[in-house]
Amino acid sequence: MQYVSTRGAAPVLGFEDVLLAGLARDGGLYVPQSWPQFSADEIRALRGLPYSEIAVRVMRPFLGGSIAEDEFRAIVEDAYAGFDHGAVTPLVQLDQRTWVLELFHGPTLAFKDVALQLLGRLFDHVLAKRGQRVTIVGATSGDTGSAAIEACRDRENIDIFILHPKGRTSEVQRRQMTSVLSSNVHNVALHGTFDDCQDIVKALFNDTGFRDRMGLSAVNSINWARIMAQIVYYFTAAVALGAPDRKIAFTVPTGNFGNVYAAYGARAMGLPIEKLVVGSNSNDILARFFASGTMSAAPVVPTLSPSMDIQISSNFERLLFDLLGRDGSAVTDALNRFRTEGKFAVTDAQLADALAIFSGHRVDEDATMATVAATWEESGYLLDPHTAVGVAAAKADPLDPSIPMVVLATAHPAKFPDAVEKATGRRPPLPPRLSDLYEREERLSELPNDVAAVQDFVVARARAAQEAA
Ligand SMILES: *Cc1c(COP(=O)(O)O)cnc(C)c1O
Repeated sequence: MQYVSTRGAAPVLGFEDVLLAGLARDGGLYVPQSWPQFSADEIRALRGLPYSEIAVRVMRPFLGGSIAEDEFRAIVEDAYAGFDHGAVTPLVQLDQRTWVLELFHGPTLAFKDVALQLLGRLFDHVLAKRGQRVTIVGATSGDTGSAAIEACRDRENIDIFILHPKGRTSEVQRRQMTSVLSSNVHNVALHGTFDDCQDIVKALFNDTGFRDRMGLSAVNSINWARIMAQIVYYFTAAVALGAPDRKIAFTVPTGNFGNVYAAYGARAMGLPIEKLVVGSNSNDILARFFASGTMSAAPVVPTLSPSMDIQISSNFERLLFDLLGRDGSAVTDALNRFRTEGKFAVTDAQLADALAIFSGHRVDEDATMATVAATWEESGYLLDPHTAVGVAAAKADPLDPSIPMVVLATAHPAKFPDAVEKATGRRPPLPPRLSDLYEREERLSELPNDVAAVQDFVVARARAAQEAA
């Protein structure tokens, strides 16, 4: 299996190089040269298998033989052994035609664990094989840092440094990061804002000497392996509900378009997906695109579903590549126009291609809260605000109700207890794995808002630096 860049000007790479590279050298995102195909019989044969076995079979073609199958199976089993549900991503039925696919049973209670628990282990495996080490550096406003830390903790060949703005994350968010005491995990509470944290991380990456010496790397949402890992649960859910002998639809609460692009990949591989409904909060660039064929930027507004407060959906570039006939220079032109003019448009025919698969709905704050309340009343089920955007979008979509609709639940309600309590009067308790979070010891370092101070801190602790010295 070979991977090509969406901008068409970077080398074609195999799986391991795509894993370690993240972004392509021409600024594009890697996608498979062609999608592996699963016949109806192969899909039927997945029924009843454990999650990890379905995961191995679905992801195997993407590795192109670069990792031996028994080694890969061991990595996959280890990645999902830490989930607190035997089905890893269980389905719960809400009403006659609506199911919720719970993706929040991993260590940080959000769907990013499903991909990142695998990604950290794959990184470690490939680095060990190559005799390399990397230093992961990232900034977080509180939400994604813990998933990256849980993915990298105790990994032999990875050191991770996560900067958060001191005093500006919630206590749960901070403790989920700082109570990880592994020696390769370094939490920095920066005297500054989230933007200051991001600026420092950018400065570290822009210092090429430092970047090379430290083997700086990121585990961000454009990494191909994250998409690959997310394709798996579309297969597990669809076969549980009767695929390939029955059509299925999915609704995905969306920010960066990574999760719903994985569904698009599952469909391209042969899964009978009738429709993909994109749920947006008030940051509705995607819903506006599907309504008009024009992608146009607007300022980000904070919402109850902060992980979707995004105005540029970076993974959309992967879909755009297909809509534009896999023409890398056409993608580059469109994105240049977006950067200079704040918008670009596709043709009516290209929009029609997208609408044959996707639809988009915007769900505002009132509708989000009303959906949390109504779902609790009607089904006795607590939705987090991100998942509520999905449920509301599914209800708004005019799809044939005889087709089962699966809504992806991207966060545990206990991650957003204030909104859930306000809507339902019920405060969702933390699950047992985190119930002692407030008693756990914390380890973190405070640093001034200063690039050199952060640089010195990393140099003194990253094992890649000690080996380079
Ligand atoms: C990251 C995230 C999303 C958005 O996922 P994308 O792949 O960026 O579309 C939705 N909900 C939660 C809880 C998230 O953490």
